[in-house]
Amino acid sequence: MTLPERKPPQKKRPRNTKEAASDRKPSGFAAMGLSAGMMSALAEAGYLDPTPIQAGLIPPAITGKDLMGQAQTGTGKTAAFAIPILERLEPYRKGRGIQAIVLVPTRELAVQVRDECIKLAFGSEARVMAVYGGKPIRQQVEELRRGSEFVVGTPGRVMDLMDRGVLPLCDIRFVVLDEADRMLDIGFRPDIEKILRKCPASRQTLLLSATIPPPVKKLAERYMREPEMLDFSSKNLAVETIEQFYFTIEPERKYDLLIKLLQREQPKQAIVFCRTRKGTERLYQKLSKLTRKAATIHGDLAQNVRDRVMARFREGKIRLLTATDVVGRGIDVSGISHIINYDIPEFCDDYVHRVGRTGRMGREGVAFTFVSPEEGNELTRIEMRINRLLKRDEIPGFTSYVKPQPTGDLSEEETEEAAPKPPVFGREPKRYRRAL
Ligand code: AMP
Repeated sequence: MTLPERKPPQKKRPRNTKEAASDRKPSGFAAMGLSAGMMSALAEAGYLDPTPIQAGLIPPAITGKDLMGQAQTGTGKTAAFAIPILERLEPYRKGRGIQAIVLVPTRELAVQVRDECIKLAFGSEARVMAVYGGKPIRQQVEELRRGSEFVVGTPGRVMDLMDRGVLPLCDIRFVVLDEADRMLDIGFRPDIEKILRKCPASRQTLLLSATIPPPVKKLAERYMREPEMLDFSSKNLAVETIEQFYFTIEPERKYDLLIKLLQREQPKQAIVFCRTRKGTERLYQKLSKLTRKAATIHGDLAQNVRDRVMARFREGKIRLLTATDVVGRGIDVSGISHIINYDIPEFCDDYVHRVGRTGRMGREGVAFTFVSPEEGNELTRIEMRINRLLKRDEIPGFTSYVKPQPTGDLSEEETEEAAPKPPVFGREPKRYRRAL
């Protein structure tokens, strides 16, 4: 039996056309006067409404103004600068060079920003590519020779390609300095300045930064034309939806605490941040004996390994990623439920960036910071920076200090630790494996 075809509901004709028009006033992306092509790319990406930074930045950026936006990643800032640029890219013409260049601090971010721009360029002919170190330069040279309108890259590699004469900046109309504070922290200032000096003065410059310290301001004063400052940072720098806890812990007990915490929390996906590359690798080596779903990412690894790890993390195949700050920064993976600061970050800004890896786009997230008794001041500095107190957390029965040899009766708190317990990696790995 076939069902009769259902007729679409008839739209009622409005009686008063003036009133009806104002009722249907476009809002969100539709109100920005974007092209039909861009509207369908947004629909394809599933972006129904602009995020606050997109609502605030896209309209003035489309007019060609220089803008400085204070915003963290995870707020939709990539699309906020990519949409106005893609809207004004001129179509391919033989002999015309690159029109837009986005500078980012890390290789991972270069890939991520490129992918987001490709998504938004859906249906258009714009060719978006990423250039970054750690990958054979030849491939990137060839791709550049084939032609590209939109390049995303790390300053070092961009300089390298410029020096080889394959990345001419004479046709540049748009420059974006993404995560400007971080690029300056890493020491990219000389490269950035050289690149900016090579771009035509008539270009539009957009600068995005989580914080605007004096060096960023200076860069803006020197290389931007009367930039308008737009503040999209939330009052409490660490996003509202992220619960934040700390543990007081002796350094020798951190690893055991981590295991207990993972068992308790059962994270969907977690990043465990360490301060050094060696420490990150060491921790990963231990964790990898407990679970196959662990991986690591730090600056000592070859770029193709880093790319593979990121791809598997994004696909959810990795649940536990140990990382250093530089590489961990900017990672945008929506499944990250937990951030664990195994080592307290050296700089307060790094805390904000680490914790910002979870709770993306208003999702819930939780962050734990391990603090040794000597690091109390660092914890206070972080709390002042984010204008919020971290809550103290404990795992019942777990002692956070290296217990002195028992001399007499045991207190209740010490009993579990003193009692003979199965070795962590001996009889227990299966249980841990399950736990992870
Ligand atoms: P970003 O801050 O650019 O790293 O973006 C964070 C995440 O938000 C990315 O996964 C984007 O794909 C996503 N995103 C950006 N804009 C929107 C939007 N308007 N609606 C839904 N998701 C978005």
